[in-house]
Amino acid sequence: MTERIKCLIIGSGPAGYTAAIYASRANLNPVLYEGMLCGGQLTQTTEIENFPGYPEGIDANIMMSDFRAQAERFNTDIRSGVVTDVDFSVSPKKVIIDGEKEIEADTVIIATGASAKYLGLADEHKYMGKGVSACATCDGFFYRKKVVAVVGGGDTACEEASYLASLCSKVYLIVRKPYLRASKVMQERVFNNEKIEVLFEHNTLGLYGEEFVEGAKLVKRKGEPDEEIVDIKIDGFFLAIGHHPNSDVFKKYIETDEEGYIKTAPYRPLTNIEGVFAAGDVADPIYRQAICAAASGCKAAMEAEKYLALHK
Ligand code: NDP
Repeated sequence: MTERIKCLIIGSGPAGYTAAIYASRANLNPVLYEGMLCGGQLTQTTEIENFPGYPEGIDANIMMSDFRAQAERFNTDIRSGVVTDVDFSVSPKKVIIDGEKEIEADTVIIATGASAKYLGLADEHKYMGKGVSACATCDGFFYRKKVVAVVGGGDTACEEASYLASLCSKVYLIVRKPYLRASKVMQERVFNNEKIEVLFEHNTLGLYGEEFVEGAKLVKRKGEPDEEIVDIKIDGFFLAIGHHPNSDVFKKYIETDEEGYIKTAPYRPLTNIEGVFAAGDVADPIYRQAICAAASGCKAAMEAEKYLALHK
């Protein structure tokens, strides 16, 4: 049987839960579907040091449990399930959960976040779970006292390299440019850690190993006269090269940019479809911070409230 919902929230990161807190306090009786990764991307990281209100920092999983508990306190109906299809050409909007359950929603808040990117090498598939990972926090433990490489030059790569250096005997940081994009504080952590060796201007050609990763072939200064092939012996290969917005299921109806980030109105989380709002990393190609996601979740819930009041 089709269920009718006033406010459907898709996603359980800071954007989704903040939208839930605001929507439930506004009596919109929100239903939140958690999606594939309950608690969102932050559950894949270690400590959060830059979310206001935690002067000593906080464990990311604890913070997300607190977000959830706060949404539950105001009676948000939190459910497990993944949105597999939508029809936003009708009103109320139709949303299919796990390929079977049909929901009719007066308003929809998309807060599906973003997922880790891979380089696109065949070897990443070949050695997936056998040395290749996109989550140091999840898999770092398996590489204690071993040698690993992290690909990327942003905050994630630096954070993951620093975390892995606390477990592993050595960490290579493979950076394609001659500089790091990460914030200064993260860069300093990397440069001051003697277990981390930064390989600037290196790109990965492939991985090798009998069953598990045993090494990587890199190219230094690709295309330059002094181009060089470099071989590193590693047990683990961690990707930290950014994220892809989880907007594919909505693209039939919702406008996105060329990278797939949902386009919203200036200053407001409105999409091109009335009654459908987007919050958090799925609509944020620039800042991608938990605090920004939370703020946009708040705005989306306030917009949903306004929309429902106007379309009684
Ligand atoms: P970023 O987009 O900031 O960085 C991605 C990195 O991966 C860049 O160095 C980029 O290189 C590199 N890269 C991308 N594609 C490839 C490729 N095909 N081959 C090799 N290298 C590649 O993503 P992050 O995930 O690091 O950060 C996202 C956002 O989250 C940022 O705003 C960041 O500040 C924030 N963040 C904050 C943290 C904190 O404050 N605690 C922790 C983690 C993230 P290039 O520079 O050449 O483009």
